[in-house]
Amino acid sequence: MGPGPSDVDPRVLRAMAAPLVGHLDPAFLEIMNEAMELLRYVFETKNQLTIPMSGTGSAGMETCFVNLIEPGDRVVVCVNGLFGERMADVAARCGAEVARVEAPWGRTIDPADARKALRGGRPTKILAVVLAETSTGVWQPLAELERAAHEAGALFLVDAVTALGGIPVAIDASRIDACYAGTQKCLSCPPGLAPVTFNEEARKVVRGRKGKVQSWYLDLNMIENYWGKERFYHHTAPVTMVYALRESLRLIAEEGLTARFERHAQNGAALHAGLEAMGLKLHAEAGHRLPVLTSVAVPDGVDDIAVRRALLNDFGIEIGGGLGPLKGRIWRVGLMGHTSRRQNVALFLTALEGILGRLGFGVRPGAAWQAATRVYGG
Ligand SMILES: *Cc1c(COP(=O)(O)O)cnc(C)c1O
Repeated sequence: MGPGPSDVDPRVLRAMAAPLVGHLDPAFLEIMNEAMELLRYVFETKNQLTIPMSGTGSAGMETCFVNLIEPGDRVVVCVNGLFGERMADVAARCGAEVARVEAPWGRTIDPADARKALRGGRPTKILAVVLAETSTGVWQPLAELERAAHEAGALFLVDAVTALGGIPVAIDASRIDACYAGTQKCLSCPPGLAPVTFNEEARKVVRGRKGKVQSWYLDLNMIENYWGKERFYHHTAPVTMVYALRESLRLIAEEGLTARFERHAQNGAALHAGLEAMGLKLHAEAGHRLPVLTSVAVPDGVDDIAVRRALLNDFGIEIGGGLGPLKGRIWRVGLMGHTSRRQNVALFLTALEGILGRLGFGVRPGAAWQAATRVYGG
């Protein structure tokens, strides 16, 4: 129940035990096609260029910036957590002139600030934002940022690493030009692939570059010839990971996106209700809390590490601590993909209640699960 990797369905683990075939084997090409088709379903897009990059979510981030940016391009990056910070770093390493739009860690980005930044200089190539900030638990609304980006003639780039498969991303309906994700969050697959999707506008930018993409490994102009009809060898695909991704995406298709989003929403709401009934304070801005990653303030006088150690040693539950300015101040509880289950909410709330009670933090026994039960309609 940490910020990822999430639990993996046994079917995904079994798929990974299947015999290896070559990365150009006809059987594998079929598996690739199915994985791309299923990715389009989960991203809710018709984008032809929708493929898993080799590497973790950060490789997806680099893929977007390194392909879309040429040295000197102006990029506006929304920074209200660790992953916005990382995007700004990656964009700068690509030679971009980076303008930051900031909000405190735990608050959403104000679209008015983004508009100001988009107007504040030379024409902007990209507006980049994190949809689900895993370091803070904030769910960023996209609609106004999308409008601001396109009115300014910029591409709209979204980090959906923790969002994809847990909350709606809806690439086409949200008019997102380029987006990246990772496998080990709400897709419930081991870490190792980074699904990306580029629409035609974004592809035009990549094809029309003046210079070569400075990363040979992440160059989409070459990689799309392996995932496309040509099947040109570029680098050896991580065959076993593609088996795993296909199986995890099949599980999502069997459940259905709507049902999956509802499951995540309900378990997240139950967790939030339980934590508040315990007298704890949720860290993320009210009204913008993610169901898939909950940040909760460590109460005064309670030892962060002692609580996490007891959860792990006594109950086998792993949760995350705070990062950056939130180190030691919050806990981060993931309910992603296969981990987002009612029995996990029940076990976690009950375990935490017991541990906090033992540490002298006054908790009315049973209050948390009672509040959670109301969310489940019980
Ligand atoms: C996890 C995460 C990343 C980075 O992914 P890695 O798989 O750790 O490389 C990027 N953005 C967000 C929002 C994330 O949660």
